[in-house]
Amino acid sequence: MSDVRLIVAGAGGRMGRTLVKAIAETKGAVLAGAIDAPASPLVGRDTGELSGIGANGIAVTGDLAALAGQADGVIDFTIPAASVALAGQAAAAGLFHVVGTTGFSAADEQAIAAAATSIPIVKSGNMSLGVNLLAALAKRVAATLDEEFDIEILEMHHNKKIDAPSGTALLLGEAAAQGRGVDLAARSDRGRDGHTGARRPGDIGFASLRGGTVVGEHWAIFAGPAERIELVHKAEDRMIFARGAVKAALWAKGRAPGLYSMMDVLGLKD
Ligand code: NAP
Repeated sequence: MSDVRLIVAGAGGRMGRTLVKAIAETKGAVLAGAIDAPASPLVGRDTGELSGIGANGIAVTGDLAALAGQADGVIDFTIPAASVALAGQAAAAGLFHVVGTTGFSAADEQAIAAAATSIPIVKSGNMSLGVNLLAALAKRVAATLDEEFDIEILEMHHNKKIDAPSGTALLLGEAAAQGRGVDLAARSDRGRDGHTGARRPGDIGFASLRGGTVVGEHWAIFAGPAERIELVHKAEDRMIFARGAVKAALWAKGRAPGLYSMMDVLGLKD
């Protein structure tokens, strides 16, 4: 079988650089091109050098359209506005799209779902095996316990992160909401401050900590009368997300159009 040819979007970023490394390490995947923000000072730089693996002859460019003909798909860890634009461009070019970006608005989500009617899109707030397993467990625990158990999602990330709660926290909250059979949007409690009154039974609470260089830590807490269950995941290296994203790309090639998640890729959907 021929190699899956990938374009990395956000190639100059923390995740983009890690992806270039992960693709180089993965049999059956090859880096076909790289883009970053058109105004980025990194345009023209060698992606292998940026990633610390030595020159690979693939330079950072600013335009997906110019690269589309030489690739099968795009892996994208950028910002919401860029990911929405890339979904449209990928659909026009017939490329699959793996979206790791987080912080989307409802309108962004709709635009990505629309693009997924013509191409396969794999989108997940967390591409690691461990967190997706944790989400499956959170769903199961939430389905077992009733509203006597308060569900709280806590996360901590590095001090450069620009969105909160994290995409992973929302993914865990969604899994718990599904397990409990409720609508997350209607039952979320985000950002408590001041005289908030008592906790509403059945709410799913979120709290975010920011500091240092923490790659990503998440807790799904089920606090009941006189006992507490805590499910925890601690990411120690961005490589776990990059490997997951490359795995998603290999899985996406040749798939029917649709919006998929890492649960589909990892076979964790029930
Ligand atoms: P980052 O270091 O800020 O990287 C983002 C990159 O995207 C930057 O190089 C940025 O370029 C580039 N970019 C901005 N606009 C662009 C455009 N129009 N076209 C192409 N590239 C563009 O951030 P990060 O830590 O790598 O995280 C990126 C995203 O991935 C965040 O949303 C984060 O939450 C998410 N994330 C997801 C997972 C997961 O498993 N799903 C794991 C980790 C992180 P400039 O700096 O020049 O603007």
